[in-house]
Amino acid sequence: MEERDLKISIAHLYPKLLNLYGDMGNIITLKKRCEWRGITVEYNEIGINDKFGENDLYFIGGGQDKQQEEVASELLKHKDFLTQERDNGAVFLGICGGYQLFGHYYQPFDKPKLTGLSLLDAYTVAGKKRFIGNVTVETDFLNPKTLVGFENHSGLTYLQGDTKPLGIVKVGNGNNGEDKTAGGRYKNVFGTYLHGSLLPKNPHFADYLIELALEKRYGEKIKLSKLDDEIETKTHNSLIGKAY
Ligand code: GLN
Repeated sequence: MEERDLKISIAHLYPKLLNLYGDMGNIITLKKRCEWRGITVEYNEIGINDKFGENDLYFIGGGQDKQQEEVASELLKHKDFLTQERDNGAVFLGICGGYQLFGHYYQPFDKPKLTGLSLLDAYTVAGKKRFIGNVTVETDFLNPKTLVGFENHSGLTYLQGDTKPLGIVKVGNGNNGEDKTAGGRYKNVFGTYLHGSLLPKNPHFADYLIELALEKRYGEKIKLSKLDDEIETKTHNSLIGKAY
């Protein structure tokens, strides 16, 4: 199949509430890297009380505790559907607050626990310290191996069972500042604390997610054509190992 005959559908979950530090840049990157190849993108913005349809990729950004509270109760209405989507191979990307809601729960400091979707076998508890700064992660599934971004969270996330980290923290704090893990993955569900936004400076991860979404839709592995990523790669490389 020619790339111009391909299509993916992307659901953007609650962008009016969870879109901290320009997480919208991840959607722009996914859309652009498809459009530059002639791949059609069906973009579905999902708001409070909206119905969910099947999508190839679901994205949710970060937000303050207050916005997370609002979204958490809404997301729970769709837990069974989204679990089924996960098990059908749909791709999920959650950033920070969105990532936390992929787990079993997020326990803020002085507020009631927020129940998550349990798409990842993970949980988050509020820490005393806010982790703020650049992060470099080394993965074992991307080429190049590195992911770079910016973290700003007080939540401490702990992974369990078959949920594995995206990689090991080389610079920064990652999931909890203790176990050197960064992010979480189970099946095609990916969560990370990396804002920045993440995908514009990690184009190889953007393409990895698009290829997974195409595989979910068409039932076969599809290798994307190469784009001229000179600027993105220069930006990525300039941030590797950078703390502040
Ligand atoms: N409220 C959460 C925390 O502070 C998530 C913040 C965010 O999305 N940047 O850990």
